[in-house]
Amino acid sequence: MLSFDLTPEQQQLKQTARDFAAKEIIPVAARYDEAEEFPYEVLKKAWELGLLNLEVHPEYGGLGLGVLDSILVMEEINYGCAGMATIMSANDLASTPLLIAGSDAQKKRYLGQLTEECAFAAYGLSEPGAGSDAASLSTTYRKVGDDYVLNGVKHFITNGTVASWVVVFATKDKSLRHAGISCFVLPADTPGLTTHKMKGKLGQRASDTAELFFDDVKVPASALVGEEGQGFKIAMQTFDRTRPQIGAICIGVTQRALDESTRYALERKQFDKPIADFQAIQFMLADMAIDLEAMRLLTYKAGWLVDHGARSPIVSSFSKAFGADRAMHHCVNAVQIFGGFGYLKEYPVEKLMRDIKLVQIYEGTSQIQRVVIARNLLKG
Ligand SMILES: Cc1cc2nc3c(=O)[nH]c(=O)nc-3n(C[C@H](O)[C@H](O)[C@H](O)COP(=O)(O)OP(=O)(O)OC[C@H]3O[C@@H](n4cnc5c(N)ncnc54)[C@H](O)[C@@H]3O)c2cc1C
Repeated sequence: MLSFDLTPEQQQLKQTARDFAAKEIIPVAARYDEAEEFPYEVLKKAWELGLLNLEVHPEYGGLGLGVLDSILVMEEINYGCAGMATIMSANDLASTPLLIAGSDAQKKRYLGQLTEECAFAAYGLSEPGAGSDAASLSTTYRKVGDDYVLNGVKHFITNGTVASWVVVFATKDKSLRHAGISCFVLPADTPGLTTHKMKGKLGQRASDTAELFFDDVKVPASALVGEEGQGFKIAMQTFDRTRPQIGAICIGVTQRALDESTRYALERKQFDKPIADFQAIQFMLADMAIDLEAMRLLTYKAGWLVDHGARSPIVSSFSKAFGADRAMHHCVNAVQIFGGFGYLKEYPVEKLMRDIKLVQIYEGTSQIQRVVIARNLLKG
């Protein structure tokens, strides 16, 4: 049966996140963004309210909620600040390989840590030489006795310098491409692993982005997630689950752009009337509203499909590609509606425009989403 109703629990969860964004995030978001400072105090409060790590199962201390529930929370947190939301969703990104293929011991130790304390985790796939072509990654692992030894560099890793543990993808032989890649999970203080914060981002500046250096990092056999050679599959299945969360970023930021623009258009007068009276402005607002509705339908459907066990890479990519490209377009228009004031940090829309650009890039660029979609179409 087709239903568009949220359950009372989902409505409550969404309201809690909305109230939190209004009270704890919006008043301080610009300050953290400007200072490029990790907003630990804000996230600690979000964690205390139970707004992080929603999908961790109850046996590891979590709520065991679904992807759709995460989307509902993410939508509201992103209304407040996409940078802070990215920190939260990076925990889900790092947790998902363990949810998909982790051993019970790995889940207890690492997912359990996220629910016992306000801790952060990182997902290390991208490298300086391997972005969109993740199968060409160069970080290596080799077996030494019962252990594995990792060497290489990851970059652009969200939560990299603040994480308590990291998931990392490495190859035993680069020439094997996908088939050579395995997934590992390890504590961030493992000897040989060092991090360096990458500063100077255009947007989402409260989020932590880092390089990770693996210099003869020795991990036990128990650090392997799933089986050897399954790493690439785990990485891609992770994105099928997490890309709808990027769709949620697009909803939250575009909703904020629409609300701010509507308010401003009604207040600002030119030619002796509110600019909202001009059809050119009205059409920009109407187009935002149309796309917001479409983003919600696509993203909720993508989350619902994952929650119902129907792996659907194409719908997850629809949600991310459509959301990212439309949200970018509308945030540029929000600045346009504010005119010169939109170009100033004193007003909220320039931050929306800077923040949203990232969603066309991470977790697979907008072009790569189309590669995934076309591949699915063409294979019949
Ligand atoms: C702030 C930030 C946070 C991030 N967080 C993480 C993280 O937590 N973990 C992680 O592993 N990674 C993370 N990333 C990395 C991100 O996923 C990569 O930047 C992204 O996958 C693109 O890779 P690239 O930057 O190397 O660009 P490239 O792959 O070099 O792409 C450059 C351009 O070429 C295009 N292109 C490439 N291949 C094709 C193709 N086949 N067809 C058409 N066009 C193509 C791309 O779409 C893009 O426009 C983050 C990045 C940023 C900026």
